[in-house]
Amino acid sequence: MPLSATPAAAAAPAFVEKAALTTYVAPNKPSLVGLSRAELAEAFAGIGVPPAQLKMRVQQLWHWLYVRGAQNFDAMTSMSKELRAELDRHFTLARPEIMAEQISADGTRKWLLRLTGDHPGLPPPEVECVYIPETDRGTLCVSSQVGCTLNCSFCHTGTQRLVRNLTAGEIAGQVMIARDRLGDWVGQGSRPASDGAAVVPTEGSRLVSNIVMMGMGEPLYNFEAVHDALAIVADNEGIAISKRRITLSTSGVVPLIPRVGAEIGCMLAVSLHAVSDTVRNELVPLNRKYPIAELLAACRAYPGLTNAKRITFEYVMLKGVNDSIADAKGLIRLIKGIPAKINLIPFNPWPGSRYECSDWDQIERFSEYVFKAGYSSPVRTPRGRDILAACGQLKSTTEKLSARERLALRAMAMTE
Ligand code: SAH
Ligand code: SF4
Repeated sequence: MPLSATPAAAAAPAFVEKAALTTYVAPNKPSLVGLSRAELAEAFAGIGVPPAQLKMRVQQLWHWLYVRGAQNFDAMTSMSKELRAELDRHFTLARPEIMAEQISADGTRKWLLRLTGDHPGLPPPEVECVYIPETDRGTLCVSSQVGCTLNCSFCHTGTQRLVRNLTAGEIAGQVMIARDRLGDWVGQGSRPASDGAAVVPTEGSRLVSNIVMMGMGEPLYNFEAVHDALAIVADNEGIAISKRRITLSTSGVVPLIPRVGAEIGCMLAVSLHAVSDTVRNELVPLNRKYPIAELLAACRAYPGLTNAKRITFEYVMLKGVNDSIADAKGLIRLIKGIPAKINLIPFNPWPGSRYECSDWDQIERFSEYVFKAGYSSPVRTPRGRDILAACGQLKSTTEKLSARERLALRAMAMTE
């Protein structure tokens, strides 16, 4: 999430040790998290559940997993002990492993997650996930890839090579981890531990109410997994976050934009960042393949656009590069006729980056121009400064947990 970062002392993650574990052996079993109903039926069939029962069993598991947030089969009391034991012999309900959790004074939370698939000699794949509470919503910023193949020149993720795509389970698993840690499953009803001065959504009953695919990676270069994960997150009988509260951000993979509309049906955000191909080629090199005109044509054709259902154009404010009033005029000209809102993002510098964030009064002038032209143009308030909760640079600065803290956290997850 592109939030402005100030090198401040990182809040030390607080952990309560609930059990002392000496050794931990990673389960050598597949997780059922992220499987479709058809795949779950196959899993049940594979452990001998008769065909006539499959639908009902899948329904039960789905409920425990995605309504109740069960972390082990034991909790699934509507199934027989024998079936639970059989499930436990073959499968887990594991989400990605939490390596670090940091909580900002403003309530923003950041998790560093380790994925499976270590390669000898290489660090294990890790991604970040950030929770941003506001008074009217709680937004979770979710990652889709470890690294990115695109090299946007202002983005730190762009400097990291693509390690691998996330699976549907690892993408949906981020939402589950956030709900686990926030106590946001049905029947839990707890509030974040650090409520104190922190912002907490007061509307509705959910702490995680909105999802943005704006973490690490280009979601449209991992289309199938993102599609399957969002289907789980939006499923009415499960997590049930409305598709209107799910936003997928793309740097402009034009051929796949129609499929987002037709097959995922969520809201679309487009990382525009410039109004001429010359500047955009520099900032978002993918523009050389899919130039602005083609990108905007795909946006115009996006299904279901109305004033209540608008495309978000993201625009990172880079001093002297794309932040003049002439740029603002160009922006308004370009998006004319598209139901749109514009997200002005203060550039988030990272060590070695070649840009500076625009001056604050320039951002305000730009915003004012866009607003007067009739577009909502919120400037994203920097959040989570004290924990550096910023897109693509979280991992490099996150304080790693000691092995002991990780075990304690795992123990907590198992006993909560
Ligand atoms: N790959 C997708 C989604 C992830 S990036 C995309 O590019 O849209 C989410 C948003 O953060 C994008 O708009 C991206 O351009 C922006 N971003 C990346 N690095 C940033 C930085 N250092 N400062 C501000 N915004 C940044
Ligand atoms: Fe990848 Fe998005 Fe960063 Fe570009 S801005 S490098 S597409 S994550």
